[in-house]
Amino acid sequence: MIPHQQRKGTYFVHGPYMRCPACGQDRLGVLLICDRHYVRRCKHCTHDVHIPLPSLEKKVIYLDQFVISNMMKELDPGSPATAKGTNQGFYRTLFERLDRLFKLQLIICPDSPVQHDESVVDHRFNKLRLVFRHFSHGLGFEPPEAIFHAELLDAFRRWLGRPCAAPLDREFALNGKYNVWNDRLRIDLNYTLPGLEASLRETGENRTKHMRAVCERWRRAESFSFQAVMEGEARAIVEEPWRQWKQYAARIAAAELTPVQSESALKDLAALFPLAASGLVTHMLAELKELPVEERFDKVGRFFASEEARSVSYVRVSALFWASLARDVRAGRKPENFPTGSLYNDVDIVAAYAPYCDAMFVDKQISHLAAQAELKRELTPHCRLFSFRKGEDEQFLEYLAAIEREATPAHMEKVAEVYGADWPTPYVDLLARVD
Ligand SMILES: [Zn+2]
Repeated sequence: MIPHQQRKGTYFVHGPYMRCPACGQDRLGVLLICDRHYVRRCKHCTHDVHIPLPSLEKKVIYLDQFVISNMMKELDPGSPATAKGTNQGFYRTLFERLDRLFKLQLIICPDSPVQHDESVVDHRFNKLRLVFRHFSHGLGFEPPEAIFHAELLDAFRRWLGRPCAAPLDREFALNGKYNVWNDRLRIDLNYTLPGLEASLRETGENRTKHMRAVCERWRRAESFSFQAVMEGEARAIVEEPWRQWKQYAARIAAAELTPVQSESALKDLAALFPLAASGLVTHMLAELKELPVEERFDKVGRFFASEEARSVSYVRVSALFWASLARDVRAGRKPENFPTGSLYNDVDIVAAYAPYCDAMFVDKQISHLAAQAELKRELTPHCRLFSFRKGEDEQFLEYLAAIEREATPAHMEKVAEVYGADWPTPYVDLLARVD
């Protein structure tokens, strides 16, 4: 008889059960699943067994906000009937297929700070969040700006003829490990900064005005050259962190001359918080510490104006999107069809995340621009883009079906051993008890 150990809990132990090697009862359930092994514990005698798990090859799939939003409407009992069954039930089928593949440990759909910000301004934020966190299991992409800055720092080291640090791969672009066996449980903290919603709404409105003004300028310009627009956009994008850093440095210098006197000047103090760009430029200056100070600034400035800086993936892809849009406007796109400010987010997402995804489901606007030759050449070696254009929705479902067909029988058996045979049943009640 094995004595009961008081401190070993069995509350979280669940099926599937196996025979316990210690007491011989069929009560050896699953306690924990962590990355590359899992732990079984006997509900009868609390004997523990650690079992290694094989490596995984998950597909990384990014879902645009409109996909998340439509799946949420399908699952939400509070959504009006008119919001359900749209696109011939596509979103329900999509949810079921994604959920199955996610539970079979064959895919992961990382979330992103952009998704979070786009959801905060929606009154159904909690429901949207539950859907995108469900498929990401808490794994998220770093902000697009962080990826852009890392690419620039990498290019800067190349430009100096120095070896690059760690490669910019998926592990870098994501805030955690992705090829791991997920636990059944996910513990989540939901916190939103006070004032964020109002600030995001204002930014959104300003961006729409700016977008319209830019399109109008392209429309009225005397001449048009795709190459010239692309190069101009690339220059503007790449020089933005340098411009931000110079402004920030000037504010710091001014504050040193006239220090902030009282708490009433909180706004002035806020202006002294470093921007992400200051981290990037500080890293660059640190690479040049063998040079006199003035030469360091000069050299960093020359890098921001260099071909090497404009050649990083984020800049090339973003500039191609804007030049493709400008060509559309020149070809007669009507002002009422000019994009809203949300296009900035959509372009940011593809430019930053496509190199780290196997597939993305994007909106029609992005898909239309990305299908043009220049962007297609740039994006397709890395990532497949799907949308609602030209039957691509059906192709996306087929792409997902193929992922399961290609899984090995040994993998499927392992999933059943760890999670149980009924585990892949889609969790369509995800929002059933959410207000
Ligand atoms: Zn036992």
